Amino acid sequence: MKLTTKILIGLLAGVIVGLLLTGNPAIANSFIKPVGTLFINLIRMIIVPLVLSSLIVGAASIGDVKTLGRIGGKTIGYYLITTGFAVTIGLLLGNIIHPGAGLSIPMDAEVAAKEAPSVITTLLNIVPKNPLKGLVEGNMLQIITFALFLGIGATSLPEEKGKPFISFFDSLAEVMYKITALIMQVAPIGVFALITPVVASNGPSVLIPLIKVIAAVYIGCLIHALLVYSSAVKIFTKISPRKFFRGILPAAVTAFSTTSSSGTLPVTIKSVKENLGVSDKIASFVLPLGATINMDGTALYQGVCALFVAQVYGIDLSLGQQGTIILTATLGSIGTAGVPGAGLIMLSIVLQSVGLPLEGVALIAGIDRVLDMARTSVNVIGDTSAAVIVASTENEIEYRDEDTKTA
Ligand code: ASP
Repeated sequence: MKLTTKILIGLLAGVIVGLLLTGNPAIANSFIKPVGTLFINLIRMIIVPLVLSSLIVGAASIGDVKTLGRIGGKTIGYYLITTGFAVTIGLLLGNIIHPGAGLSIPMDAEVAAKEAPSVITTLLNIVPKNPLKGLVEGNMLQIITFALFLGIGATSLPEEKGKPFISFFDSLAEVMYKITALIMQVAPIGVFALITPVVASNGPSVLIPLIKVIAAVYIGCLIHALLVYSSAVKIFTKISPRKFFRGILPAAVTAFSTTSSSGTLPVTIKSVKENLGVSDKIASFVLPLGATINMDGTALYQGVCALFVAQVYGIDLSLGQQGTIILTATLGSIGTAGVPGAGLIMLSIVLQSVGLPLEGVALIAGIDRVLDMARTSVNVIGDTSAAVIVASTENEIEYRDEDTKTA
């Protein structure tokens, strides 16, 4: 049986057992909840090394880009800006749709006591005075900053000096992905154990907020694709948005069904080259880089989910904290692997960056596959839009008759 099916069964079983225990949440809280806590601790265990290693490697791949100069700059600029837009759309929808309404979980005193830092403090704190302290304390923004510097620094060195460093972290990142996969093996039990007490304390009404999360993510993905990508393609290329979407449809559909941008890459490259006339040079640079560092759908999803978790735990996120989410999700997407479910692990990083309880990850885990389908499609569409735009501004696109904007 597939893992996602098992996780879904875990969620359903948790809901059913939770409903059976509705009148008596004490049993769920004392016997089942600790297993869930153990699962959360497992996720917590890998967060810091995972972010550090995967971002160093991600940043190193950006560092390579300097050899490509202008094209590299344009591509990365476009990737970061659109990702920023995506997470903002996610946050807006989270504020408007309010998916967490109707579900309330009391938070631990430890979380409640945390005070929101001001915007200025957050900005100043992005650069760690002592990076090791940032690592020990799990300060996400500081870890991200430090990792980006390390990655870029390492690629700026002559190959024989920088390579061993990057190889080590590449290997560490692989080990972390492996451990993540192992932890995900017990996710069905973890999700069951975390959902049961929630349903037992809240009753069946707990399901409506989850449906709202799905709605918010799908609406957000549609808005992002139709508004941001369409406009960008329209402004920077001679391809009509309709022609663009028709051309990249095979890639979007493959992404939707495989939930892996990396796995979709061959189809993405083929669609962009054959259907939209992008040159080999641009496609083979922009798209693999995008599959590695550009995750608009994931960032959007993290915006929605962060607000959902905050609402469920009754925590008000200040504007400054929402700004922190934008930064963490945008920069964090660089370190998100283009494989199924990677965004869920990175969600814990976004939650941690503003002091939200990681238990929220478990609420999402049961529906994550459905969300992954939408976000991976957007991740891939984002990459293809960059390919046509960069190609167009570099005169590396072969327009065909039917490409006119009137199509
Ligand atoms: N599955 C996504 C991708 O491959 C990453 C994620 O889980 O958000 O792009």
